[in-house]
Amino acid sequence: MDLKVENLSFSYDNVVVLNKVTFEAKQGRITGIIGPNGSGKTTLLRCIANFLKHDQGAVFFDDKDIRLLKNKEIAKFLSVVPQLTNLTTGFTVFETILMGRYPHLGLLQRESKEDYEIVNSTLERVGISHLAKRDVGELSGGEKQLVTIALALAQEPQILCLDEPTLHLDINMQYMIMDLCKETSRDKQIVVIVVLHDLALAAQYCDDLLILKNGKVKAMGSPDEVIVEKFILDTYGVEVIVGQDEISGMKYILPNIGSKTTIT
Ligand code: ADP
Repeated sequence: MDLKVENLSFSYDNVVVLNKVTFEAKQGRITGIIGPNGSGKTTLLRCIANFLKHDQGAVFFDDKDIRLLKNKEIAKFLSVVPQLTNLTTGFTVFETILMGRYPHLGLLQRESKEDYEIVNSTLERVGISHLAKRDVGELSGGEKQLVTIALALAQEPQILCLDEPTLHLDINMQYMIMDLCKETSRDKQIVVIVVLHDLALAAQYCDDLLILKNGKVKAMGSPDEVIVEKFILDTYGVEVIVGQDEISGMKYILPNIGSKTTIT
């Protein structure tokens, strides 16, 4: 099942922030949203999750118009990892991740054995079983980010939205989180949508990329199609050199401050 965003427009106090955004994010793939600061990436993610009510257009998942659903209904199939973690101190990591099961519980229904098993397997999947009994308030920034992702995964979403999940994290942690996104999209065949600033990381991990500029879709395509010097100049106003490592095939992006001919 794919997510379809059709002609979505949104304004803050009459200032248009998203202007007729249309794209599809497919299951089993990672769709990256890139673009300059202020181009509307976070707003788009928040509209998709129905945290913000868009003015025009629609967001469909499995032919359901998300805006017409109640938040608890949406939380059964869509989870969001926000830019800033807002975990409540005083709860252990286990208890926090268990909260991810709440959308699936009925009124006054207690968590079942299956919910506990899902939390344990999520802790293992994210590699944080050793933190289970720690208070979330005591954790490092990177550990908190992993708990936030585990909380989102414990919801067992069919759409996982992440807003700059690698922000402020070291390179090891960045790869770990992006690997987790990739594995999850493939293994669970879910839609993963991720806002990223790091273009090399976006090129390496995303299957499809949406470039936003001034609230409009500037381009949509594979990393090979959109992570190119011309698009980066048009979008960010900066000259770069996009190269490819011969062995791994991975892209790198360098500022074009020297002679272009020295790098092949
Ligand atoms: P990005 O994620 O690409 O950096 P945002 O979606 O955060 O962009 O912001 C898009 C535009 O909306 C910016 O011009 C920003 O200043 C504006 N904006 C964001 N949040 C609000 C808000 N709560 N009220 C008014 N304007 C906002």
